Amino acid sequence: MHAARGPSDESGAAAPPPGPLRRLVRRGGGRALRTAASLRARARLAAVPLDRYAPRSALRLPEHHPQRAAVSAVDAHNHLGTWLNDGAAWMAPDVRALLGTMDATGVEAVVNLDGRWGAELEANLDRYDRAHPGRFATFCHVDWAALSDGRGVPALVAQLEAGAAAGAAGLKVWKDLGLRVRDGAGRLVLPDDERLAPLWRRAGELGLPALVHVADPLAFFAPVDRHNERLEELLAHPDWALHGRGVPAHDVLLRSFASLVAAHPGTRFVGAHVASSAEDLAAVGALLDAHPNLAVDLSGRAAELGRQPRAAADLLRRHAGRVLWGSDSFGFDEAEVRTWFRLLETSDEHFPYSTAPVPPQGRWAVSGLALEDAVLEQVYRGAARSWIPALAR
Ligand SMILES: [Zn+2]
Repeated sequence: MHAARGPSDESGAAAPPPGPLRRLVRRGGGRALRTAASLRARARLAAVPLDRYAPRSALRLPEHHPQRAAVSAVDAHNHLGTWLNDGAAWMAPDVRALLGTMDATGVEAVVNLDGRWGAELEANLDRYDRAHPGRFATFCHVDWAALSDGRGVPALVAQLEAGAAAGAAGLKVWKDLGLRVRDGAGRLVLPDDERLAPLWRRAGELGLPALVHVADPLAFFAPVDRHNERLEELLAHPDWALHGRGVPAHDVLLRSFASLVAAHPGTRFVGAHVASSAEDLAAVGALLDAHPNLAVDLSGRAAELGRQPRAAADLLRRHAGRVLWGSDSFGFDEAEVRTWFRLLETSDEHFPYSTAPVPPQGRWAVSGLALEDAVLEQVYRGAARSWIPALAR
């Protein structure tokens, strides 16, 4: 039981301790009982599961909470449509309230990536872009089912042309390309599949940027075990785990994306979520160096960027003009948007990247990037306006 002994137990000791401590020592009769109780408490604590462990940081640090973006901002990656609610409800149920929140946070425009196609695209454009010119830019999708149901790539191209004619500001491509989309023979279709070349080429001709979400965080491709840095998230969302699901590896998907971008220099691409490589910002820098027609957005990766604030700030400084801020806050969440301002603008250290009681992507804190105004001007606005021409119209 040595481990349980306090220092005072060692006292074969010299001078008796002073005042209050002496009284404590004299009352030593209850000590055995107290020691047994504290041993039991300690044993209970040692058995607390990690998901119940909620340490409170003892650091006392300066805090800054910017309420508005330092310069007028464009949220270049967000979701305002209905398809992520199974068509049942708009992500932003009250457009007036949304505009009020945008004004209060200094956000001049939001890119809505939920246009889809046909009547759904029209409904999105009516509700946002056409009703509030200059405040919204809706992207369209194409219906990959055409690849397996016999309509083929010409149908995708026609759909893109119709989207452009209706007023879509770009083409959004979701991660299902590479992970789930199959051709008529049941084979997975990768982003750089040559059969899709006419689609990407047409996007370039129409002046529509293609914002592509390829793959997912590295941890989603790793085994769901005690070493996985996003274990709790994957346990909460088992369908997000890709390991052992028969999908291409993360690096295969990323190489496919790079070869797609290389094959279409006349088309401008935006790699969503830091091109799904936020865990390796040097690789992102190399990708941007290699492909002048590529930009990336920051959406959904505050937790990654903020735990490597120096590397992240370095990337943003070196590639200012080709990095777009996006909140991906599903309807424009004020608190999330302001956490981004704190992350990008301040030099605050060790703060939560989420308002959730348990940080959803991993149990770590983030530190600010303290970007200069000239860089913020590009990340918040300049890059979006040059990569998404509809915003500058
Ligand atoms: Zn998104």
